[in-house]
Amino acid sequence: MPDTLVSSATDTIELTRALVRCESVTPREAGALQLLEKALAGIGFRCERMDFSEKGTADVANLYARIGDGGKHFCFAGHSDVVPAGDLSSWTIGPFSAELSAGYLFGRGAADMKGAIAAFTDAAARFIARRGRDFGGSISLLITGDEEGPAVNGTVKMLQRLAERGEKIDACIVGEPTSSKRFGDMMKIGRRGSMTVDMVVRGIQGHVAYPERLDNAIHRLSALIEALVREPIDQGSTHFQPTSLQFTTVDVGNPATNIAPGVAKARFNTRFNDLWTSETLFAHLKERLDKANAQLGGNGTIEYKVSVSGESFYTPPGPLSELVAGAVRDVAGIECELSTTGGTSDARFIRSHCPVLEFGLVGESMHKVDEKSAVADLKMLTRVYETMLDRYFAV
Ligand SMILES: [Zn+2]
Repeated sequence: MPDTLVSSATDTIELTRALVRCESVTPREAGALQLLEKALAGIGFRCERMDFSEKGTADVANLYARIGDGGKHFCFAGHSDVVPAGDLSSWTIGPFSAELSAGYLFGRGAADMKGAIAAFTDAAARFIARRGRDFGGSISLLITGDEEGPAVNGTVKMLQRLAERGEKIDACIVGEPTSSKRFGDMMKIGRRGSMTVDMVVRGIQGHVAYPERLDNAIHRLSALIEALVREPIDQGSTHFQPTSLQFTTVDVGNPATNIAPGVAKARFNTRFNDLWTSETLFAHLKERLDKANAQLGGNGTIEYKVSVSGESFYTPPGPLSELVAGAVRDVAGIECELSTTGGTSDARFIRSHCPVLEFGLVGESMHKVDEKSAVADLKMLTRVYETMLDRYFAV
């Protein structure tokens, strides 16, 4: 359809620029959701702010917008918050000025992921302009203001509220910048989980000259580290890399030259694949550690503190990945690889509600200075999302 039929309020480029100008560094709303709400309401979406607060955490603004009441329900999930700009002097163009230059739209959030939110809004506007508001299904946007932060008062609670009132989602696309080198070259059908474990190892402090009277916690800890890293945790699975375990710190804090410490602390993080849950993985690692600790003899103990920031998610290749791959093939003329690499995303919370995968812009510049997206990519992403809606709601 000609561009003139679509209001400039939902034009991908203009809307991305307007969103980038809102300095919505986590957890600030900074007008981003208000702006989006206006654009979505203008094309018939029922908008609902789902703001949450919890003691000890920042208040978070979230937006849920839906058009249609029944039929199949397709949801686009995303986040309007961005990471801080960092060192302003190293940006070539102001991080919140949203300037266009040399075919790129520059600014914090251009890639991660205000560009994708705008592209989906534009795609929905075009789809509704052609098919009417009664197209026989439902489309929604689930946008949180806290994905880059603790992610406590965002997607999790919104999904909870939807579930409580019986609102079911049938398929969900998260607009994270999944493309790797070229627009459309990669989607994520899964992500590894992330678990951090803090260990406190206790032996017996003593004078270095009397080794028979002490149990050096450093020696104990080093044997325990060895027990964890000596052998791989797994060999990976069909769609996932092997689970990785990395120690991130070891602390003793002992200024004396003649004291062997009785306490040593260490922390490691694991990125685990779909062969594990955080629970089964921790049980496995604890077994290795307990065994190694027993082999050392003595009465040394280990305490653990486990923090899980997300379980792994995996949506097996099927109708949803074919929907994305087909649209990408027809719009961008390239084959979209099915990947499970990278950090965690909010898809980890959506996985228990419906099939979910991630597809969006080129992520190369995300979280860096001079974050940008090619204007051509933003336009292609709009067409990809629109094509997906067309095919998902094919009459
Ligand atoms: Zn993101």
